[in-house]
Amino acid sequence: MRKKIIRRLNASLVASLLAVSVLVTGCGKSSASNSGTTAGNSENVTEQPTVQEETTTELKIEGQEVPANIQTTLNVIEDKNRNYYEIFVASFCDSDGDGMGDIQGLISKLDYINDGNPDTDTDLGCNGIWLMPINPSPSYHKYDVVNYMDIDSAYGTLDDFKQLIEECDKRGIKIIIDLVMNHSSIANEWFKTARDYLAELPDDKEPDASECKYVDYYTFVKGETAGNYYKAGKSNYYYEGQFSQQMPDINLDNPDVRAEFEQIAKFWLDMGVGGFRLDAAKEYFSGQPEKNVEVLTWFNNYVKSVNPDAYIVAETWTADYDRYLESGIESAFDFSYASYDGNIALTAHGGDPTYSGLYFAKNLMKTQEKVSSYSENSIQAPFISNHDLDRPASYLGYDENKIKFAHGLLSMMNGSTFIYYGDEIGLGGSGADENKRSPMIWSSTDKTGECKGPTNMTKEYVINNFASVEEQLKDDKSILSYVKHAMQLRNIFPEIARGKIEILDEVTDEKICAMSKTYNDSKIIILINTSKTDTKAVELSRANNGYECIQGILTVGETQPYQVEDTIVLPPNAIVILK
Ligand code: CA
Repeated sequence: MRKKIIRRLNASLVASLLAVSVLVTGCGKSSASNSGTTAGNSENVTEQPTVQEETTTELKIEGQEVPANIQTTLNVIEDKNRNYYEIFVASFCDSDGDGMGDIQGLISKLDYINDGNPDTDTDLGCNGIWLMPINPSPSYHKYDVVNYMDIDSAYGTLDDFKQLIEECDKRGIKIIIDLVMNHSSIANEWFKTARDYLAELPDDKEPDASECKYVDYYTFVKGETAGNYYKAGKSNYYYEGQFSQQMPDINLDNPDVRAEFEQIAKFWLDMGVGGFRLDAAKEYFSGQPEKNVEVLTWFNNYVKSVNPDAYIVAETWTADYDRYLESGIESAFDFSYASYDGNIALTAHGGDPTYSGLYFAKNLMKTQEKVSSYSENSIQAPFISNHDLDRPASYLGYDENKIKFAHGLLSMMNGSTFIYYGDEIGLGGSGADENKRSPMIWSSTDKTGECKGPTNMTKEYVINNFASVEEQLKDDKSILSYVKHAMQLRNIFPEIARGKIEILDEVTDEKICAMSKTYNDSKIIILINTSKTDTKAVELSRANNGYECIQGILTVGETQPYQVEDTIVLPPNAIVILK
């Protein structure tokens, strides 16, 4: 909890405080405005769904409009449901001018993520950070780890990391770190020792783990082997490397390996990390989900024995991701809402009647039923992009309203939401992985902190059509202002992340997604107009549905939602919270 005093403000005061949620009374035009920024790009590598254009309708409900009681008081609950922000440190902020992002650079930008002051609305309002790997590694992305208990020197030192944790603690931010247990780097001492041992092994002698325990840390096979196997140095042995030659697969069946990872997990938990994002958990034993669940069960039990408050989210990139929740980990990333063909993008595109308000609502219900069926501690983990996926700006065709609305849809979802750094300013990037990991743009005039980005980034696929953080912070209508406000709503209404969803069948239709969310006996109603052209009037009895009025608003255009008695009028792609 960050703030307890309840304040209610009238509409005119709110307008000066909450730039995005200006409540304009007496409006009825539905202009799906494209405020200022250029749209269109020539580099959509992913196929876009066909979008049928809708005709714009105008609507005006006669009668006395009820003033909205817009809530601005934060009510942040300290639990495992958080607003996460994923960061690729190398591209975020550089503190020493070498063009490589680093931990001190990140510390200097923490106030942007969350300044810890509930009286300001200049920060993003994220209270969780997921750091992509920070351990020493020869690659630019660092998913091949040389030493699991250190910080890559390009990023800083363990002391820098301890300082980061302290600064995050001051701001109520929990850090979860990427833990790559599926494979290590070929430069890891475990692997090098095993490889050198095998190279010296006489041809008629079997590898002996009592002589070199590291031969059992990986999967070595004598002689050339089909599949993703690579020759281990000068020896006649080949090792499994599902991802690449640089990434030998670790044998997670080996108790010695598990003991290593317990020590590693404890090392970071003792330092104050809030948990782990587990890379490639589906590939621990590729094609053997039961075994993967067993690995996760072991790891989760160990982590919780050290710190029961730790949060674990696994990358299990598959439609039946939820089965991994059997292990007791809180979350497994839900890819079905992400990317160009995910539920959110399809809904944000608009125009295709298949992806209606009803369709979105039904999916939310399905997701809730699926995830909550494992444990009351299971937490949804939705997102719209990450470091492996095209940026929303790219797959939504640099359409500012679609990008905003995609963030709006995500922000109304249950659980821990994850925003990938730069998506909040509409950073572009598609195609090769490097292009999806391009430098954050802090300012158009002041290059302090700006990173060079991955060497193999291709300019043609990193198209940035939107302004810098500095400029967007000053612009009430920017994507960043919208995302900030969306996160603020999550921090004002704990029901959004934690509430049990019920679909309001009587008003949910091809345009409107209407649902209630109830948490600890407190109920909110969320109305989402999924049409990008039509203003919609929703008839919803206050008496029967237990609400008074509009208390939260997210809009993509100039026109604002309003209420006349039991009627709520929603401009295109507007989202309102009723309470
Ligand atoms: Ca640096």
